[in-house]
Order: sequence, then structure tokens, then C-alpha cells
Amino acid sequence: MSRCLAERSIDHVLLERGEVAHTWRTERWDSLRLLTPNWQSRLPGFRYDGNDPDGYRTLPEIIDFIAGYAKAISAPVRTHTTVTSVRSADTGYVVRTNRGDWRCRTVVLASGACNIARVPSLGARLPRSVASLTAQSYRNPPQLADGGVLVVGASSSGTQIANELQRSGRAVTLSVGEHIRAPRVYRGKDLEWWMDAAGVLDERHDQVDDIARARRVPSLQLAGTPDRSTLDLNVLTDIGVTLVGRLAGITEDGKLQFAGSLRNMCAMSDLKMRRLLELIDEWARANGLDDTVEPPDRLPPTRVAEAPPLGMDLVKSGIKTIIWATGYRPDYSWLELPVLDRKGMVSHDGGIVSSPGAYLMGMQFLRRRKSALIDGAGDDARDLSAHLAAYLDNAAPRLSA
Ligand SMILES: Cc1cc2nc3c(=O)[nH]c(=O)nc-3n(C[C@H](O)[C@H](O)[C@H](O)COP(=O)(O)OP(=O)(O)OC[C@H]3O[C@@H](n4cnc5c(N)ncnc54)[C@H](O)[C@@H]3O)c2cc1C
Repeated sequence: MSRCLAERSIDHVLLERGEVAHTWRTERWDSLRLLTPNWQSRLPGFRYDGNDPDGYRTLPEIIDFIAGYAKAISAPVRTHTTVTSVRSADTGYVVRTNRGDWRCRTVVLASGACNIARVPSLGARLPRSVASLTAQSYRNPPQLADGGVLVVGASSSGTQIANELQRSGRAVTLSVGEHIRAPRVYRGKDLEWWMDAAGVLDERHDQVDDIARARRVPSLQLAGTPDRSTLDLNVLTDIGVTLVGRLAGITEDGKLQFAGSLRNMCAMSDLKMRRLLELIDEWARANGLDDTVEPPDRLPPTRVAEAPPLGMDLVKSGIKTIIWATGYRPDYSWLELPVLDRKGMVSHDGGIVSSPGAYLMGMQFLRRRKSALIDGAGDDARDLSAHLAAYLDNAAPRLSA
């Protein structure tokens, strides 16, 4: 957004509570790699031109990449400046920070979609003897007390953490709710390449039937690894991870209760994957790629035990740590505008907030399916900066939501 505003000569400032790339510096596990390939992290004025376009950036590489971009575009960042409130004022907004106040006609809320790890309320019933971490506070296997681990959530964060812990010698149980399985490489190309080329990631917020539902869809079960291997529940079963259903309850005496929906969840996930691959096959056929890429293939169905356990005694099973990989939510405790819905999310129409001159960035399916990816920021910023410029010009905004 900063780059797009600069292109339009719109005077602006970026307020950042930490350093540039703060969330990557402080809220991710050590071994994380982007699950999007290098070529896919396109930003306004930046295209990857290194020698490993299909590789996946490590955490230090991600931090260097974002900090390097901020420097390259001379982004006017004020670091260590925490926004403590945003309020309406006569001609715009007053932004209060730990380092003084700002007045502005427009404000872009780009504070991130993943500020707080979501932990289901039943987490409060966990006995004190069991440590509780989240995908945000987990760093590496040695951080954990000895003993078994229950990872709750089987999307990209949960499967990656379960994989790392099991391979480090822990006995891992993975609680599986709704998730979407995906092969890393399909017909010889990265799945992200297919989704990008076939326009799946460009699908707009006003083209889907149920945008509220689309915004809640879990992340694809993808991981970025040097060998470009697929990480799915079958791989985890092969290395010894125990699969159980969605965590449905914790009793007073420390018994975990799992929903009986595991088979169903896995069948649904296999079905969603098949539909995505069929769409890709259709696109490849229609665009004359069938003879230039490998033929279609399908992963075998997800293997699930005949009768997966419905309960587990925490003490007897030796579980000493629970890691919640159950998603994230934004933190708007500082936002004093009447724009939050019942769930505490900013109400918006494709990033245009109901408070005049306020905009939102970086949310799931904000304007496009790719909006919450690094690669999605550019198109959204181009659209929203155009609207913002028109607003500043006092012209009727040209762009419909
Ligand atoms: C585990 C995980 C893995 C991911 N993997 C990928 C991936 O492989 N590929 C990909 O494209 N995307 C990935 N994403 C999504 C990625 O995080 C987003 O695409 C990207 O970070 C969005 O950038 P952003 O600037 O909108 O938000 P953020 O990166 O969250 O940045 C928001 C910034 O706002 C600052 N801030 C927040 N509140 C305040 C305040 N009150 N005052 C001042 N500053 C504040 C924060 O410190 C932070 O620096 C992943 C996300 C997670 C959680």
C-alpha cells in the first residue's frame, strides 16, 4: 500500500509497533518456510529474479525479503510506534500512539489478520500439569517438556508442527477437524502455480456465493520443503502420528473427548481436493497444456482407523503439551470506530470500511482469494489506493466495492 500511495504522491506514514516484518520475527516457529514458492511473493515493483523460483523462503529469508522491500521502496516507516487508538475526528482520524498523536484524512488498517491465536474455550479446562502452547508461541521441539504432544488442528500450521515434533522423537496425537488436503506438486508443477494460472487465486469477493463462508475456509494443507514433498495425513500416519477427531471436550478429571467425525472430515477433505484437481485438469485441457505436462493423477484416499479413539486420558496417554493450531484472529482492541461486527471483525466491502476514508488490508478473501497471501497485497493495494485517492480528491469514488 505504501508503494501504491507513493506512486500517487500521497503523503503517508507507516506506524509499526516493532521492526519491519515484526510478525515474522516474533510470532513464527523457527523452521517455518513460506508455503508459497519464491516466484509467488510478488509485490508492487518487485519480481523474484533469483535462481530458485520454485523454492520456499526460510524464516530469515522472509524477514530479509520484507525488510529489503521496505528499504527498496523507501517506505516511510516509524518503527517501535504502537497505535493505541484510532478515532474519528472532524476531517478524518486521530491516531494515538506511544510516540505522539497523528491526524490524517484517511487510514489504512493493515495490522494483520493473525494477531491472536484462537484457542477454543474448552482450553480453559486443561489440567495445570499439561502445558499449553499455540502455533504462535511454538518455536521448536526442545522448547517442550518431555512427553507426548497433542496438536489440535490439521491445516498448514498444525500438520507442519505435528510433522516436526513426531520426527524429533515425540509421540504426537493430531486432532483433525475441517481441513483441505492438497498435493504439493501436481502434474509436475507446484499447486500454487496451477491455482495462479487457472485464476483460482484471483477469484473476486463479489464472485463467490457465500463470501462469509469463503472467508472462514481453512488454509490448504501445504508446506514448503526443499524436496517439494506433500505433507498430508497419510504421511503423518506413516511416521507414527495418531489421528483423532476434532477435540470436542475436556472432562473435569482430565479426559479428552473427540468428535466421531474423523472419517467424514477426511472424506470431505479428499473430495475438496479432487474438485480442485478436476478444475485444474479442465483448465489445462482448455488451455492446450495437456500434452506439455504430466498426466493427471490422484493421491490415494486418506487412511483412517476403523474406530478412531473417541476419548483419551491425558495422564495415561502421557500427553504433557497441547499445541493449539486452531487459527488466528486480528486484534482491534485499539480501534475506536463503530465498524466491528458481532464477531469483532471489521465490516467492510472489499476492503472499503464503512467509516469514510478508512480501508482494510491483509484479511482472508478481502477482495480476492489470494488477499491474505503476500502475493495478494499488490492487487488489493492498487484497487484500494485508487479508491483512497479519489476520496482525497473529493471525487465520487470510481471503483465499486
Ligand atoms: C503461520 C503463518 C504462515 C504463513 N505463510 C504464508 C505463506 O507461506 N505465504 C504467504 O503469502 N502468506 C503466508 N502467511 C500469511 C502472511 O502472514 C500474510 O500474507 C502477510 O503477513 C500479511 O501481511 P500484513 O502486513 O497484512 O500483516 P502482518 O504481517 O501481520 O503485519 C502487520 C503488522 O502490523 C503491526 N501492528 C499490529 N498492531 C499494531 C499496532 N496497534 N500498532 C502498530 N503496529 C501494529 C504488526 O507488528 C505487524 O508488523 C502466513 C501466515 C501465518 C500466520
